[in-house]
Amino acid sequence: MTEVIRSAASLREKVSAWKRSGMLVGVVPTMGALHDGHLSLARAARAQSDRVIVTIFVNPMQFNNPEDLKKYPRDEAHDLALLEAEGVDVLFAPGPEEVYPEGFATKVSVAGVSGPMEGAFRPGHFDGVATVVTKLFGMTQAGRAFFGEKDWQQVQVVERLVRDLNIPIRIIPCPTIREADGLAMSSRNVRLTAEERALAPALHGAMQGAAAAIRGGAPVEAALGEARAAVLAAGFSGVEYLDLRDAETLEVATALDRPARLLAAAVLGEVRLIDNIAV
Ligand code: AMP
Repeated sequence: MTEVIRSAASLREKVSAWKRSGMLVGVVPTMGALHDGHLSLARAARAQSDRVIVTIFVNPMQFNNPEDLKKYPRDEAHDLALLEAEGVDVLFAPGPEEVYPEGFATKVSVAGVSGPMEGAFRPGHFDGVATVVTKLFGMTQAGRAFFGEKDWQQVQVVERLVRDLNIPIRIIPCPTIREADGLAMSSRNVRLTAEERALAPALHGAMQGAAAAIRGGAPVEAALGEARAAVLAAGFSGVEYLDLRDAETLEVATALDRPARLLAAAVLGEVRLIDNIAV
């Protein structure tokens, strides 16, 4: 049975008892509308921890676009059934007043890795992420936290903040889960029309093309330019960025002398899709 807990105080009691008996607690932070990507994190947590907490909190602080927050899909009953099937011990689903009570005044802000890409196109997004993740680590007291590489920049932000603030938790990045046609799973994919859904894998396709070209020695800017053009030609209305970056510092990479990552965000209809792959 997955127990649903909504208050930080009840969660703390539960986790303290687990930790007194020497158990390792794993946490998977999510915003719900769960799909196989999220469940892969729950499975990794199940395999690598004694007790598993999945959190569901649609964090208003990390939405720069009020429409996106309003339209964000929510279905807690269905999510709970999925978590039951994965043997998750606790679903922690606090309301906004539990996370941000009256008088809340603190913001966690990670410089550097938060700046480009998602940080540039979604101002304030990573402050919201860093603040809520810091709170969730404090509330769950977990020893391990599982994050998806689908949000590569987010993983870098969280790893930086854990190091900088000496938070005693280990961050475990987990691979991106994709649909059969290559589209990275995302809660927002349900907002694509059938026609858009058919076009959506073009983003990943163009990225794979660019990665192969760069690996094969093609000039980086030319390969990226071609991929951007291919995404637009496929029917996307805009490419916010499609960049080659240092995998860790996220600084622009112009050669493959260090581990590099290709990262992109593009708009299809009313949905903004992101993806990233190793090069
Ligand atoms: P979200 O609910 O979108 O905030 O995502 C919660 C966690 O699930 C984050 O760590 C995401 O990176 C991860 N996640 C989302 N989509 C995927 C995916 N397709 N594969 C792996 N992890 C994912």
